[in-house]
Amino acid sequence: MVQKQNLQHIFFDLDDTIWDFEKNSEGILSKLFEEHGLQHKLQNDFYTYFTAYKKKNGELWQLYNTKKITKDELRKRRFHETFLQFGYNDFDLSWAISESYLQRSPYGTELKKGAIELLETLSENYKLHVITNGFKEIQYIKLKQCDLGKYFDAVIISEEVGHNKPNIEIFREAERLVNTSKEACLMIGDNFETDIQGAKKAGWQSIWYNPQKSKRYQTTQVHCLTEIVTHFKT
Ligand SMILES: [Mg+2]
Repeated sequence: MVQKQNLQHIFFDLDDTIWDFEKNSEGILSKLFEEHGLQHKLQNDFYTYFTAYKKKNGELWQLYNTKKITKDELRKRRFHETFLQFGYNDFDLSWAISESYLQRSPYGTELKKGAIELLETLSENYKLHVITNGFKEIQYIKLKQCDLGKYFDAVIISEEVGHNKPNIEIFREAERLVNTSKEACLMIGDNFETDIQGAKKAGWQSIWYNPQKSKRYQTTQVHCLTEIVTHFKT
């Protein structure tokens, strides 16, 4: 149960917590797959490719989050290395697709089910903010396209502050930006390692949004966004 006594600020992760990263990205990747004739080039259907891409992208994000690779390397490698898994080697095409994907992806407007209702409800009693491990040129477009800006006071983007979740520094920077202390903060996010462990280390409360119902960790958690408000009831 959430301790409401000192709580004033609720920080949300953006991708796959509010903004439906997976649905939005699937839509664009499938268009690019068709436009570039990848079915023929990779000798596979879209879903096989999409599954391989997601896995590769996840691995590379893990490396990026722990500062083992740069943003540039992440962008250069994710499509190229996915292609290689299908025995197809064309760096230039992978780079062109990477660029198109980046240009188009923030314009998706699919949100997680219940996201707006949750923001509406919590904004009645708390100040809401975003903390996201993302690229600034992309995350701001998403917020604008989905008209989410009106719900959030502070938007903290890892690239802008120079630290990624789960580093404690990004949580301290968030406290400074909204002029508060750890006792007043709660984090809601879908990634246990970055959002929840990070918040815990910073001394914040947290709610893990765990739609996959992973049983790996014992912590305050919900399986759908609409469940979150029940944690705020007395
Ligand atoms: Mg996320």
